[in-house]
Amino acid sequence: MPEDSTRDDWKLRYLDSVAELDSRERQWGETEALLRQGLSRLSLAVDGIDPVLDRQLEELRKLLREKAAPASLRGKLEQIAESVRHLDDRREEAGAPGGVGHGLLGRLFGRGAAAAPAAADAERRRLRVARNLLQELVEDLLGQDAGADLLRRIGQATSEVQVYNLGHELVTSLQPSVPGGQGGPPRGGLKPHEVLLRLLEHIEVPSELGGRHEDIRQLLLGAGAADHTEQALMAIADLVAEIHGRAHRDRAEIESFLKQVTERLNEIDAAFQESLASQREGYEEGQELGRNVDDQVNAIEASVSQSQDLESLKGTLRQRIDVIRGHMRQYRESEERRISEAERQVERLNERLQSVQQESEELRRRLKEERDLAMVDPLTGIGNRFAYNERLELEVARWKRYRSPLTLAVWDIDRFKDVNDRYGHQAGDKALTLIAQLIRRHIRETDFVARYGGEEFVLLFPETGLEQGAAAAEHIRREVMDCGFHYQEQPVPITISCGISEFRDGDTAQEVFGRADAALYRAKAQGRNRCVTD
Ligand code: GH3
Ligand code: MG
Ligand code: MG
Repeated sequence: MPEDSTRDDWKLRYLDSVAELDSRERQWGETEALLRQGLSRLSLAVDGIDPVLDRQLEELRKLLREKAAPASLRGKLEQIAESVRHLDDRREEAGAPGGVGHGLLGRLFGRGAAAAPAAADAERRRLRVARNLLQELVEDLLGQDAGADLLRRIGQATSEVQVYNLGHELVTSLQPSVPGGQGGPPRGGLKPHEVLLRLLEHIEVPSELGGRHEDIRQLLLGAGAADHTEQALMAIADLVAEIHGRAHRDRAEIESFLKQVTERLNEIDAAFQESLASQREGYEEGQELGRNVDDQVNAIEASVSQSQDLESLKGTLRQRIDVIRGHMRQYRESEERRISEAERQVERLNERLQSVQQESEELRRRLKEERDLAMVDPLTGIGNRFAYNERLELEVARWKRYRSPLTLAVWDIDRFKDVNDRYGHQAGDKALTLIAQLIRRHIRETDFVARYGGEEFVLLFPETGLEQGAAAAEHIRREVMDCGFHYQEQPVPITISCGISEFRDGDTAQEVFGRADAALYRAKAQGRNRCVTD
């Protein structure tokens, strides 16, 4: 394959710069993930709703243009989220038409609004999302300078059709991109549909939308994918809009739940106040009973000392005793009323507490389920990049704290493009799943594997030094080589290459990943199907 070998030569000669570009691209990838979560969502709210918000969004876009570090982006996003929250509060205080769905979020997503304005809103939103997405793509793919003209025109687009056409322009302008070519993007000659595939990988998709995500992926992987890039681009824009719509709805749901919990707590508090009052009443009645009994006993004493004959004494005593009995009965009756009222009260409270508990349990379970699903790569069933980032943070903290060794391996399937080309991408998908499962089966429970990108995996070996990690990786490499993968009864040879590095004093995770990645490139350059350590 002449084209491939030219590329290999090129890769060899520019090994270092490629590795550097690639690690920059990864950083960009992280920023992008954040950006996609934050910007697309928030820029939905951009149109002159509030001057403070407008300014913050402008600052956010500036940070994004300057490719600011994720931490400062996150800070800005939090600020904006805060403003949005206050905005909703203020609108409610100002007596905006009441109830959930009429706040800012309601306005954006048309809940509770009349159908016609909702449809218009949705259209405007789609246009905005499409514009933003395309602008981000242009900036990432062409850069701000080369893409300046296109960026300006996208900003002025007033209909989706115009955005489609501009998307088409972007796609055609990328078509002849040659690795390392003048002014071309540092993407090793990725074709537009491959760029979109990568973009798709960065989008965190809730489980219910997994099907749509998969459809777009299939579209981009299938035959003639290059002809469907615009369609896929717009489908991605729709998907992003939908995801963000859901995120807002989830928030609204949690808010309404919290409101409900607060109401219940207020009820419970009121009930306690009531029972306190009834206790006080009981105490006072008890005191009164005591006084009444005292009075009667005093009267009896007086009658005893004054009485002349036994008969009249008996009569007086009986009378007094009846009075005492009456008081006692009265007291007992009201005490019983109080007790049964208190019991009913307790029962009611218990029921409410239980229902709050059930609801919060259910909410917690659902949130966890969604979170878990968001961490799993739907194709292979192993963790995705988000899961990896989370685990990495944990392991790095552990490594820093306990100084126990930590080794990282990066994997990339060899000549995977050829597998797709020869056997079809469904064979490729099967191979990917098989390899992911195979790696997972062959590591220890404390190790961690994730699908990092298209046909790349990353493995963390905690409590494991370089040598031991390399031996484990070598074992996995052999298992993959010998797995005897077949597709439609044809044998499909599959091999995988690996770069390995260990955390050393003063390392950041990025540095270690960079070293492992560079080692992976060396493994490729040295002929593939091998593990190389750094
Ligand atoms: P090498 O890594 O050995 O240099 O060659 P390669 O052919 O694997 O290299 P490259 O990274 O250029 O190509 C990776 C290919 O993997 C491109 C893309 O078509 C394919 N790919 C990425 N993600 C998927 C996926 O989810 N399913 C399938 N079937 N193919 C995928
Ligand atoms: Mg690759
Ligand atoms: Mg590969």
